[in-house]
Amino acid sequence: MNEQEYIELEQRYGAHNYKPLDVVLARGQGVWVWDVAGKKYLDCLSAYSAVNQGHCHPKIMDAMIAQARQLTLTSRAFRNDQLGHFYQELCELTHSHKVLPMNSGAEAVETVIKTVRKWGYKVKGVAEDQAEIIVCENNFHGRTITIVGFSTDAGSRDGFGPFTPGFKIIPFGDADALERAIGPNTVGFMVEPIQGEAGVIIPPDGYLRRAKEICEKHNVVLILDEIQTGLGRTGKLLAEAHDGIEADLTLIGKALSGGFYPVSAVLSNTEVMGVLQPGEHGSTFGGNPLACAVARAALKVLVEEGMIENAAAMGAYFQAGLKSLGDSKVREIRGRGLMIGLEFHPEVGGARQYCEKLREKGLLCKETHDHVIRFAPPLVITRDEVDWALERIAAALADG
Ligand SMILES: *Cc1c(COP(=O)(O)O)cnc(C)c1O
Repeated sequence: MNEQEYIELEQRYGAHNYKPLDVVLARGQGVWVWDVAGKKYLDCLSAYSAVNQGHCHPKIMDAMIAQARQLTLTSRAFRNDQLGHFYQELCELTHSHKVLPMNSGAEAVETVIKTVRKWGYKVKGVAEDQAEIIVCENNFHGRTITIVGFSTDAGSRDGFGPFTPGFKIIPFGDADALERAIGPNTVGFMVEPIQGEAGVIIPPDGYLRRAKEICEKHNVVLILDEIQTGLGRTGKLLAEAHDGIEADLTLIGKALSGGFYPVSAVLSNTEVMGVLQPGEHGSTFGGNPLACAVARAALKVLVEEGMIENAAAMGAYFQAGLKSLGDSKVREIRGRGLMIGLEFHPEVGGARQYCEKLREKGLLCKETHDHVIRFAPPLVITRDEVDWALERIAAALADG
């Protein structure tokens, strides 16, 4: 089949809830992917940072195949010999006390909402059904009804109501607004350390540190959604480390499996997780032995192969390279580690056209919102590969 035939098949039988670039991929290795015609591309999206470890990392693959031969799913009705190791390794790596494993990022977000509400009633003493969680404008936390209900993006929300009550929305990056918004029923503040889907928006220096102080002062649980920023993407294991803090609850997902399998987790540094009792929350696939084995290998290679340090070094190099292009169409280059945004001036007419041009030149990336391209290659990218990318980007900008 040729590329067009694959596309037609998807169009005919699939829901049209995405507008992908028309590239049909068939193979991946490290930072590279190949389409069905054999054309090679540098992947600068990394499945929204789910393949930080690079495509088809051989050690993660080996772990997955070995575990698939042994045991894949027991449900949590029984125990399995991978879960305890996964808990221990993840807690030791992230300085957490407790882990609750789920599958997708959105499920981790739902889990944290349930947990922090329960904590509010059982521990903080909030009156029944009055708990309030503060979130930020332009947030992205996933796609369930509850989550899109506190989105400020019309495309995510419109037509999907009625929504879950109990959320208050404040501007991102404004610690004073947080303090003003906190009331007696506030149980949690959930925020992304850097807003990825909103266009790689970096808050002012010290924002998370202030948020942490304010939450502590008012007995509010600080929840960091590190599903995209976590696991090395910003040049630290968790982005909170840039502010020298530890959140009370941290959400991770995406790269937790290196792209092999949906695995997410809620990490808890406090007693908050202790409020959940048997039977109150769960998932058939959450914590299954295949997921645990894959995640253990994904975490191991991330650390042992120096990917986090490489993200810091290559991120700085990539950002400096983009800045040195000095293109007048570009309004700003910003980022942390290998989470990089290139924002065009609004009159340029959208970032999508440049994603299309870059695709022609062998580099895959995606616009976020209208005017920003996010560059987020796998963390295994080399200096030569960054140079290769910069040449294509320079050419694409010069083209139009
Ligand atoms: C991707 C993402 C999610 C949702 O994860 P899914 O696995 O797609 O449900 C939540 N929060 C952030 C910050 C994300 O980037």
